[in-house]
Amino acid sequence: MIRRAGRYAWASPYTALGLAVGLVALATGGRVRRLDGVLEFSGGFAKWVVRRLPTGKNTAAFTLGHTVLGQTIDSLDFAHTHELVHVRQFERWGPLMGPAYLGASVWVWLRGGRAYRDNPFEVEAYRIAP
Ligand SMILES: [Zn+2]
Repeated sequence: MIRRAGRYAWASPYTALGLAVGLVALATGGRVRRLDGVLEFSGGFAKWVVRRLPTGKNTAAFTLGHTVLGQTIDSLDFAHTHELVHVRQFERWGPLMGPAYLGASVWVWLRGGRAYRDNPFEVEAYRIAP
């Protein structure tokens, strides 16, 4: 129980950002559900944000701490297992997750790889949930 609380606290800066986006999503026609200890928002402002990520307008979902932002409920269903891997990564890396993820993308890109698909955080997520 204490370990679980610690994981939520460690990831909480990103969860707070996800909740802020999620609250705006709810005020703009979006929905929320709780699944596997994660709040998943879809539609409204959440969809607007996800469609503007550097990964493109077909991106299904995006994880911030213990929140997931998705375009639709179907896209949340599609991406759920993959995004849960990212939730576990936020639990491990906490406040360092953003710099670590972006730094890994830059490092991979500088070495001639693909900034998104060759990023080790994505490699782990796609290995578990293709
Ligand atoms: Zn991913």
